[in-house]
Amino acid sequence: MKIVSSRHDLPISWDGEKVVWGEWSEVRSSLAYHATAEELACDKCGSVDESMIAWGLRDPPAGSMTTRIRTKTTRSGKKYDAVEEVPAQPLRDIYAARCRHCGHDVVTDTRTDERWDLEAEDYGPGGSTPSDTLF
Ligand SMILES: [Zn+2]
Repeated sequence: MKIVSSRHDLPISWDGEKVVWGEWSEVRSSLAYHATAEELACDKCGSVDESMIAWGLRDPPAGSMTTRIRTKTTRSGKKYDAVEEVPAQPLRDIYAARCRHCGHDVVTDTRTDERWDLEAEDYGPGGSTPSDTLF
């Protein structure tokens, strides 16, 4: 019998925005030589180790634009570069760090530079939503 779980590996959305998570990177960098034991220690189980990292791809904020250079040609055949505005592309600007020992996840939103400890409901069908916001 196969047990079907509604728990996702990581939140399917972040504050209502869809997140597409990449593969877990298990590579250990040289961070352990630079960081202190306190910085590397897991808040939940206390293991001192470098976490696995997965980057998430998010759509840019609604309506955000970026510019690109496009070569255009005048009616007389002369080429010139023109700057044009195009919709911004999705960005890898959020990442999850998973403890290798207890599996605890901490997500860092690089847009706001905030870190969040994930809780059980963050893995559910509604994704992660701000729990301290009152509507
Ligand atoms: Zn841990």
